[in-house]
Amino acid sequence: MFRGFPRNSSSQPRVAIIGAGIIGLSLAFELAYRRGTRVTLFDTRPAGRGASWAAAGMIAPAFEAAAEEGVHPRLFDLCLESARLWPAFSEDIERLSGLSSGFEAAPALAVALDAGEAAHLAAISQVLSARGVAHRQLTGDDLAQMEPALSRDVLGGLELETDTRVDNRRTVRALLAALEASPRVTFVKGAASLTSRNGRVHLDGHDAIVAAAGWETPVIKVAERGQLYSLVNWETALDDIDCHAGQMLSVAAGEGAPERVVRAGHVYLVPRDGQVVIGATMEPDRVIDTPEAEVIEALRLEGVKLCPDLAGAPVTERWAGVRPGTPDHAPFIGETVTPGLYVAAGHYRNGILLAPVTAQIIADQILGQAVGELAATFTPRRAYSATA
Ligand SMILES: Cc1cc2nc3c(=O)[nH]c(=O)nc-3n(C[C@H](O)[C@H](O)[C@H](O)COP(=O)(O)OP(=O)(O)OC[C@H]3O[C@@H](n4cnc5c(N)ncnc54)[C@H](O)[C@@H]3O)c2cc1C
Repeated sequence: MFRGFPRNSSSQPRVAIIGAGIIGLSLAFELAYRRGTRVTLFDTRPAGRGASWAAAGMIAPAFEAAAEEGVHPRLFDLCLESARLWPAFSEDIERLSGLSSGFEAAPALAVALDAGEAAHLAAISQVLSARGVAHRQLTGDDLAQMEPALSRDVLGGLELETDTRVDNRRTVRALLAALEASPRVTFVKGAASLTSRNGRVHLDGHDAIVAAAGWETPVIKVAERGQLYSLVNWETALDDIDCHAGQMLSVAAGEGAPERVVRAGHVYLVPRDGQVVIGATMEPDRVIDTPEAEVIEALRLEGVKLCPDLAGAPVTERWAGVRPGTPDHAPFIGETVTPGLYVAAGHYRNGILLAPVTAQIIADQILGQAVGELAATFTPRRAYSATA
């Protein structure tokens, strides 16, 4: 069985990556620049324009994973690990592309507008305290001083040192620029011609294949005896990848715009490039690419509740994207039951955050390096916990 390319092999493997979103691009970057490996990146659409373009760019291990119920029991650890990798990842991308990655280490604010939200923040704070993760409790007055744009209805909140942000569109652009400049990377516009022989998925000229096509990963096509089948036939766990549409908008950031990422319940405001992103809807089992006017307006009004002076700010953009999910809201990262076929998909709300750690784990596996105990728990072959 192929379990990683032999470490003492004289030649480097050639790796095919199917899907050039932030996950595929980050893996290509890790392999080509940090491990000296040759990579071919396939995408049927313009690279980096899927969920990775639609995202808000929050790097939010504490808010997204510290106190979430029914998720993979080690998701918070994986998110913390990846958040720790982001500064060096960003520096490397900037050095090798000459472009900004859009990473900013400014801590996010999580605030409560009602008792339910306050209870959720208390639960997050309890987990962070128990784990020794830095954060600060804030009263409504503290918040009014720190972020005068916030509504006076805010009851209190947390400053989350682990939770930062990146302009994901800049990151994608910078990754693309770095990869396009690398002699080790080949971009192919279109589908990879995968074939199956003797139960193994092949791509001519490649030693390992990584399926990283976001929510479309299960339906990547493989030819067998002249017929096309979906990849889920080779790795049935992929059947669990589902879709969660998200709609968002941005408004011009004039006076009354927040300077930090601010979250309250399911609504968030993210300053980005002279605008404020207001997000986002969570629409399970839905695939859309066009935002809906009434949904966007409802979201805008929720943003205004949090920062009332945004009421008059002109809307600058509206968009929609699709998050790839799994039953325990954690990604599939690792080799499948089919030797030489790897999956890196299902990152749900945290694909931007989890890109650097995903890239490291898959690169380690392909190159036959030891995979840590934490990483191993995200195998696509895992059993889900009873609460998931
Ligand atoms: C509204 C919204 C807000 C979000 N906010 C955040 C956030 O703040 N922080 C965060 O961490 N995450 C966030 N996310 C989640 C994050 O965007 C995703 O988890 C992440 O982008 C997934 O990356 P990906 O590379 O797997 O998928 P994608 O970016 O969707 O890339 C998949 C690529 O595969 C290509 N493809 C599909 N089929 C094939 C095929 N057969 N062959 C070749 N290529 C193929 C597609 O064209 C696409 O380019 C958000 C998502 C949405 C929708």
